[in-house]
Amino acid sequence: MATEVDTLVIGAGPTGLGAAKRLNQLNLSSWLLVDANQEAGGLASTDVTDEGFLFDVGGHVIFSHYAYFDDVLNEALPEKDDWYEHQRVSYVRSRNVWVPYPFQNNISVLPTEDQVKCIEGMVDAAEARFRASAPPKTFDEWILRMMGEGLADLFMRPYNYKVWAVPTTHMQCKWLGERVAAPNLKLVISNTLNKKVAGNWGPNATFRFPARDGTGGIWKAVAKTLPQDRLKYGKKVVKVNAEGHTAELDDGTTIKYKNLVSTMGLDYLVNNLEGIDDATVTQMQTAAKERLVYSSTHVIGIGIRGELPNRIGDKCWLYFPEDDCPFYRATIFSNYSPNNCPQSSVKLPTLQYADPATGTPSSDAKEGPYWSLMMEVSESHLKPVNNETLLADTIRGCVNTQLLLPDSEIVSTYHRKFTPGYPTPSLERDSALQEILPALADRFNIFSRGRFGSWKYEVGNQDHSFMLGVEAVDRALFGSNEMTLESPDFVNGRRNTERRLAH
Ligand SMILES: Cc1cc2nc3c(=O)[nH]c(=O)nc-3n(C[C@H](O)[C@H](O)[C@H](O)COP(=O)(O)OP(=O)(O)OC[C@H]3O[C@@H](n4cnc5c(N)ncnc54)[C@H](O)[C@@H]3O)c2cc1C
Repeated sequence: MATEVDTLVIGAGPTGLGAAKRLNQLNLSSWLLVDANQEAGGLASTDVTDEGFLFDVGGHVIFSHYAYFDDVLNEALPEKDDWYEHQRVSYVRSRNVWVPYPFQNNISVLPTEDQVKCIEGMVDAAEARFRASAPPKTFDEWILRMMGEGLADLFMRPYNYKVWAVPTTHMQCKWLGERVAAPNLKLVISNTLNKKVAGNWGPNATFRFPARDGTGGIWKAVAKTLPQDRLKYGKKVVKVNAEGHTAELDDGTTIKYKNLVSTMGLDYLVNNLEGIDDATVTQMQTAAKERLVYSSTHVIGIGIRGELPNRIGDKCWLYFPEDDCPFYRATIFSNYSPNNCPQSSVKLPTLQYADPATGTPSSDAKEGPYWSLMMEVSESHLKPVNNETLLADTIRGCVNTQLLLPDSEIVSTYHRKFTPGYPTPSLERDSALQEILPALADRFNIFSRGRFGSWKYEVGNQDHSFMLGVEAVDRALFGSNEMTLESPDFVNGRRNTERRLAH
């Protein structure tokens, strides 16, 4: 016999939990959440190595735009000692020096010939902006118009290729909003002549991180605030019948719903839709296949014995545009919480020196202290990665970029590939979303939302995802506008103070 609910939520990542939180807050009882995994978190999860080092799915930092999101996190982890507060200390590795972030405002630390190229490019860009009669069409055009050829070649093009695994010419630029700082030419010139660097910029200048259990700990704690009998883990949805309003699970059971909030990948959803006329399904499937682009993310973690070196200090995360390492970003994950590493008293053997040519370490287990690095590498069909050698290549890259020294003692390693990892803001993304999302919602009460449910990177962080779930429920039940889905620039440009305590 099929289970019947008013609202079915698929996925216990931040989006699905946002939907569930809202349903619960509205005192509704006819809802259910299913997830294929055994626990909550989705991509906002944390793994632990055998040696006791924690690694998130890449550098996860919370920079909330929403009071409602903050309320929910504070409810889930209410104690002062549940969190560490951090100042962002972030650099770009370029020409063998650390350039403070944002790169474009701090070229004063680069060699003179690079400073000249960057400033010449910025002057050309200012002129091009003045003459332009139409907005830029691609990310590459945007880069040239905002920053010029010098910064494009030194940082923006190579760095973004390493992040997105597609050339910047394949990407649109509407998604950028507040994320990339436009350089202030006067400031850049005066900083360069005065050999000064500019201060912090952007919405994530400070951030907080959970003291225990990594980012995944947040979402497990949020899940605990919900009625446990409505959360069903280890249940994968294999088919959705749109007209029949039913979801079929891999154990052969079905769930009938009035409204569906799906946080599965939109491509997976449309490929497993039935109960719609063939032409419509084929059109959706073709749009998804041809116009929705993603990349995979490899996360490589390294646990190291020794005091945190001075060259690393209080750095949080670091960007790597050059080809002396495979990763685009490294996070000093032990700086986020001491509990991301085993305690000093734990005895571990050295697995290898960072440069194996240094010799063979003793197999004796020794005490810490320990610290850790977490690197991210993208992969796509346009940017293949040798999965077999990636761990060794990453460790070599850490030595090349002085994150590690040749004789650094590695005591734990971690490598996992997440597919998909990043939803690419491709040139044709918006036309595909426009064809698929409204049709699903208006005709079939299927609200496909979330990092890959609605495929919009610009509203694909944890706070956005959570609110996509909240707002999808409000749309389904009350017909409210979905600000996060519909107006990314609006929600990213301000703090959203609405608390939704009572409807
Ligand atoms: C490398 C990387 C770095 C990031 N950095 C940050 C950051 O610094 N700050 C930040 O705020 N965010 C960051 N994010 C984004 C963050 O992870 C996402 O916002 C969030 O995880 C998206 O939540 P979601 O619920 O939409 O999707 P997901 O987290 O992907 O969750 C989807 C859930 O649906 C389940 N599911 C899928 N298919 C099925 C099915 N067929 N049946 C049943 N269940 C299914 C999955 O098991 C999963 O639990 C980062 C992400 C990555 C990959």
